[in-house]
Amino acid sequence: MWEYAPAPESRDIANLKPSYRMFVDGEFVEGAGEPLKTVNPATEEVLAEVSTASKEDVDRAVRAARRAYDRVWGKMPGAERAKYIYRIARMMAERARELAVLESLDNGKPIRESRDVDVPTASAHFFYHAGWADKLAYAGLGPDPRPLGVAGQVIPWNFPLLMAAWKIAPALACGNTVVLKPAETTPLTALVLAEIIQQAELPPGVVNILPGAGDVGAELVGHPGVDKIAFTGSTDVGKQIQRSLAGKGRKVTLELGGKAANVVFDDAPLDQAVEGIVNGIFFNQGHVCCAGSRLLVQESIADEVVEKLHARISTLRIGDPLDKNTDVGAINSREQLSRITSLVESGEAEGAEKWVSPCPLPDKGFYFAPTVFSGVSQAMRIAREEIFGPVLSVLTFRTPDEAVAKANNTPYGLSAGIWTDKGSRILWMADKLRAGVVWANTFNRFDPTAPFGGYQESGFGREGGRAGLEAYLDV
Ligand code: NAD
Repeated sequence: MWEYAPAPESRDIANLKPSYRMFVDGEFVEGAGEPLKTVNPATEEVLAEVSTASKEDVDRAVRAARRAYDRVWGKMPGAERAKYIYRIARMMAERARELAVLESLDNGKPIRESRDVDVPTASAHFFYHAGWADKLAYAGLGPDPRPLGVAGQVIPWNFPLLMAAWKIAPALACGNTVVLKPAETTPLTALVLAEIIQQAELPPGVVNILPGAGDVGAELVGHPGVDKIAFTGSTDVGKQIQRSLAGKGRKVTLELGGKAANVVFDDAPLDQAVEGIVNGIFFNQGHVCCAGSRLLVQESIADEVVEKLHARISTLRIGDPLDKNTDVGAINSREQLSRITSLVESGEAEGAEKWVSPCPLPDKGFYFAPTVFSGVSQAMRIAREEIFGPVLSVLTFRTPDEAVAKANNTPYGLSAGIWTDKGSRILWMADKLRAGVVWANTFNRFDPTAPFGGYQESGFGREGGRAGLEAYLDV
């Protein structure tokens, strides 16, 4: 047996159980895979043991989803589906506190973020998509849009509940059934969502949740009974999936990595920009696909901006994710911590100037101090590769054209930010930037009504908004 994890009170609020089972055909059942232990990254203690799916379990879940599609969900009038989806949304909102604490325990993110962003945005996705369920004919996609069938969905660990909501809500609204695999380090909130789905009395098999590692994901993606694949995760795995599906005629959407530029012009409201830069890179410890990890700042104000950044970052509190005053929580896993460390070492070796927040770190747990590199050139790994951690690379530019050229000098294209007082410049830049999302004088804003997705190696397909429905419908 293992040492049991967090303070009793947070364990109670999170309704944390010693073990969790997978959800197939409306029931919680033991998987035949090797159970996994999910760890609290803030303390390194085991939170719970979670059963995982075997190849046969994947098959069973896909068959259950197919039966549910053929017999019930695929034929149900949209207005009826909407009632179930609204019920899920309401029940999530009712259990918001429990979900937020559990998310912070399993993922390491500050409770302020899980409470104010992850959980409310996840339930907002269900509310929003419930509203579409009986209006699909008016979505401008054709007069009689049809669901695709069974959706196989694989998600990462950075927004475990929110990513599950992004995937499940539109699939259900459009009349598809679902088999979803959460990430191996953060399976818990998806399994509580399964509990909500069971209590909302969705017909058995409409949603199935299979914890497990990449092999379970690969099994699901390759299963011939799956009609549509929705994957969010790294560009490497996304490419593997695309290769493995070549010629199979399966509908696929890929939401992959990013290396967003946050571009600050000399006429920007600087204090506001500094807040936006800090939020852009340190929100969720930088474990954000659209993190503003490359700061492009106009040369004339570069020193001033970097100085203001150092001062502001020095005030960030790093530590216990369950403390409401924490700004930066724990890195999700030891593996991710070592990935961040090695990229930071490459930045030093390549000659960038490193500055590290003086805030003390807890003795235990996976923590990484907010780090800023100045004097970064475009060729350095820290300017090109996704670090997925609290590390900012500062580059400079002189003219708007140079800013656009540098911002677009990346194989990715998920998001970008612009800070300027000039409206005309915002419109000009937004048009030139090859990024799926461009924020102006703000950063990391999410809303279910706005489509989200990438260009180039950040993937294809959109999630959210009317455009997000296309991924789950045939016309
Ligand atoms: P990852 O690709 O390692 O894992 C993502 C998921 O895929 C996990 O559930 C994993 O178990 C599964 N998986 C692994 N190998 C697989 C395979 N061969 N076949 C099928 N499934 C497999 O990514 P990660 O480290 O969990 O997440 C971080 C990455 O996700 C970052 O690159 C980040 O940018 C990206 N991300 C993108 C978005 C977006 O919307 N574009 C959102 C969040 C995260």
